[in-house]
Amino acid sequence: TNKPKIVVLGAGYAGMMTTKRLTQQLGREEADIVLINKHNYHYQTTWLHEVAAGTINHNSARVMISDVINPNRVRLIYDEVVKVNKEEQLVELENSEISYDYLVISLGFETNTFGIKGMKNKAFAIQDIDSSRNIYDHIEYQFSKYNNEKNPDDGSLTILVGGGGFTGIEFVGELVEQVPKLCKKYDIDRNKVRIINVEAAPSILPGFNEELIDYARKSLEARGVEFREDTKIQECKKNSFVVNDGEEIPAGTIVWTGGVTGNSILGKSGFELTKGKVTVDEDLRAPEEDNIFILGDCAWVMNKEEDRPYPPNAQAAIQHAATCARNIKALLRNEPLESFIFDDKGTVASLGVSDAMGTVFSDRKIYGKSAATMKKVIDNRYVFMLGGPKLFLKKGKIRPF
Ligand code: FAD
Ligand code: NAD
Repeated sequence: TNKPKIVVLGAGYAGMMTTKRLTQQLGREEADIVLINKHNYHYQTTWLHEVAAGTINHNSARVMISDVINPNRVRLIYDEVVKVNKEEQLVELENSEISYDYLVISLGFETNTFGIKGMKNKAFAIQDIDSSRNIYDHIEYQFSKYNNEKNPDDGSLTILVGGGGFTGIEFVGELVEQVPKLCKKYDIDRNKVRIINVEAAPSILPGFNEELIDYARKSLEARGVEFREDTKIQECKKNSFVVNDGEEIPAGTIVWTGGVTGNSILGKSGFELTKGKVTVDEDLRAPEEDNIFILGDCAWVMNKEEDRPYPPNAQAAIQHAATCARNIKALLRNEPLESFIFDDKGTVASLGVSDAMGTVFSDRKIYGKSAATMKKVIDNRYVFMLGGPKLFLKKGKIRPF
């Protein structure tokens, strides 16, 4: 056909919602829409710490793409993007290539190890479904083998988490609740298990509200998490972190949650990068590209008032999608494009299933059960937006706590 072709790369929050909005806003005759993703499923990146700790099964955190995007309306390609060739308007995939008229790059984040020796190969990372379920399987294996060893090493039951940002904190929050269950299942004394979070900055969650940080620290410490703040990880060995001036912290499971950056496909495709991401124009297009939008964790979107980028999170990725879909429609119809404006609804972090803390509605602080409920409302709101009541009944968080 000679219809314009819109190609969306990556079916995360930004890619799924852009595709969905495009199908709602464009007539079939206006454009062909193609969605390309590594897997045939979409996953809840914001629930991956729960998969990694074994709170939820990985299947609860994923959705078949064809269950929420009509394959008769959108061409679905399950393949890995290798590179974007801007000059020829082509996307190179592992098994084929595809041309585009309009391109949306929403390939998400990659774990950033900042070149710390050994970290990339020796630590686990919460990156996607496969890497997250691997973490839980490894932890369970440490428990299952413990009583079978003649001289079991207590260190093998230590779980070391490097980085006390939101991912690290949410992850240890799940771990403290799962560990007692594992102890019971494998007849292990809870006192033999340690959960240690290591943070280089003077405090966990650097930059966040201090009252909320104190709440999180106290809640987690009371349940058995040990914090090592002001402690910089210098190296990751097979069974330990080397910190500060050479002290070693041994462990049987090591997880790096120390940072993320944009997908490396951006650099491979010749985009100019700032800390691994592309600083996009106000309409979310890549600089000097008329037909390429970059969204979600691949993009820096500047907050002009504060002269710094908006925080990269799922909330922003979903909002980028709405602006991007409207701007593609505007391009197709020769109408003016709109600028992205972030509507910050706050930040809520879970501290296990029944505790959480954060800010809502312009800096109102919430804690405890009401925050945990709010977190589930936020999670469910997205499930609803994506797949309506049908998906909500299948994948919503409706279990009590
Ligand atoms: P992603 O969700 O990362 O999706 C990218 C998609 O692209 C994936 O489906 C992936 O499979 C696909 N892909 C990647 N590479 C390729 C390739 N080469 N070829 C084909 N497909 C590819 N933010 C919040 O706002 N609130 C939260 O509570 C929150 N909790 C979080 C908890 C955890 C444990 C983590 C890790 C992050 C959390 N975040 C949260 C941040 C949030 O998850 C990210 O900002 C968000 O996922 C970014 O969305 P995205 O669409 O850009 O990318
Ligand atoms: P992050 O960059 O926010 O945190 C990484 C932490 O690791 C930092 O505190 C940093 O000081 C620490 N660190 C880095 N190098 C270290 C070293 N060598 N030794 C010890 N500590 C070191 O990364 P993240 O937590 O993965 O979060 C990524 C993004 O996802 C953020 O934008 C975050 O806001 C978002 N997120 C949001 C939520 C939520 O809203 N509930 C949950 C998870 C993630």
